[in-house]
Amino acid sequence: MLRYVSSRGRAPALTFPDVLLTGLASDGGLYIPEAWPTLGDVEADDYAALATAVMGPFVEGTIDAGEFAEMVSAAYATFDHPDVCPLRELDEGHHLLELFHGPTLAFKDIALQLVGRLFDHELSRRDERVMIVGATSGDTGSAAMEAVLGSDRVDIVMLFPDGRTSEVQRRQMTTLTAANVHAVAVEGTFDDCQDLVKAMFADEPFRARNRLSAVNSINWARVMAQIVYYVWALQRLDRRTTPTTFCVPTGNFGNVFAGHVARSMGLPVERFLVASNSNDILTRLIETGEMVADDVVPTLSPSMDIQISSNLERLLVELLDGNGPATAELLQQFRTTGRAGLDPDRHARLRAEFAGDRLDDDETLAVIADVHRHHDMFVDPHTAVAIGAARRLRRPGETIVTLSTAHAAKFPDAVEAATGARPGQPARIAGIFGRDEHFAVVPNDLAVVEDFVESVRR
Ligand SMILES: *Cc1c(COP(=O)(O)O)cnc(C)c1O
Repeated sequence: MLRYVSSRGRAPALTFPDVLLTGLASDGGLYIPEAWPTLGDVEADDYAALATAVMGPFVEGTIDAGEFAEMVSAAYATFDHPDVCPLRELDEGHHLLELFHGPTLAFKDIALQLVGRLFDHELSRRDERVMIVGATSGDTGSAAMEAVLGSDRVDIVMLFPDGRTSEVQRRQMTTLTAANVHAVAVEGTFDDCQDLVKAMFADEPFRARNRLSAVNSINWARVMAQIVYYVWALQRLDRRTTPTTFCVPTGNFGNVFAGHVARSMGLPVERFLVASNSNDILTRLIETGEMVADDVVPTLSPSMDIQISSNLERLLVELLDGNGPATAELLQQFRTTGRAGLDPDRHARLRAEFAGDRLDDDETLAVIADVHRHHDMFVDPHTAVAIGAARRLRRPGETIVTLSTAHAAKFPDAVEAATGARPGQPARIAGIFGRDEHFAVVPNDLAVVEDFVESVRR
């Protein structure tokens, strides 16, 4: 049975179900498997079957194999494409891997559709319940709410800044009608929403009474589910043994880290291209070996408007040879001084596997326009950032798979600004415009928000 250890080395090792429900380790670190399983010769024509095989070693001995396979099948049956994650060629030797065919049209569904089912399964086994609270500026909220829709074991309250999300993003949350999901508009900013969530977790009696839980991107189970499509892509391209490069539009580093795990398990990856918008701390880290904090600037690709990528910690501890306390120290230094660096040897190891580039909003719009003009196809701004980075960094003859993380219809204004045309609405979001919206509006006040949570808890 695989055990998981904290990146900071000072929390007890846990098995998969505890890691799933715990999220963050008690020393503030992130859980990582003690050793990487090897891929072996997993092979399948069907995404769910491949997913069951690739993830099997991570849950083995803690979840019944048949029940796990059923949860995986059910999770990917919610996708509206038979391949779940289909590929399409953009330029010769440059492919897009479409990760947006799930219920909310963004790649978060791939992990959260499974995580919701894993939560339900484990909570039923323990005869427990949880209340998930979270803050969202966009994609994560609806993906998490969809993932637990109708669950008997999980309630969810999602805070969003009133009037500051796009209409599509708001309606994706507020038109859901199950008794266990609650969208709450806070009269404040996204940061206010995040502070309210942190304050609820810090309120011990409240936290215990309501059994608060989270499904944020540091949860190991989310990373685990994302390993699969890297393997899938190379099988579909018939490149099972030929080194291939992946380009990943990056925010919290969860997606690209999952690729690194696939590579560590034996997938033949040439290198990873880490694509950023103007919030380019990762580009600078890869170029210089130094992390220097900067202010977050809003861009057309909001899910990448992040300066401190939480999942980077999982890579840092590896670069520091598994030394948890040294990792904690490096991050502490970064938090207090806004600066932390890697020594030349470690920087060289980082550069051997990763390259990075950034695109600003004008460059992003130019890519959307170019892809529309030459390929008669709409791409969303996050995907456009990655396409632009891949084209710039590509070496002669290099085969690249660029991850396409959202459907263009989620960002119609940016697409229209670039191309003069609005992308068609897939059925999944066309429906939300006819439905009634249900949401509470609350002031930016902890007592009011806590009262709301207690009032909806079943
Ligand atoms: C969350 C998100 C990203 C960033 O993924 P990370 O795992 O945080 O790096 C990129 N694109 C879209 C559309 C997203 O929703």
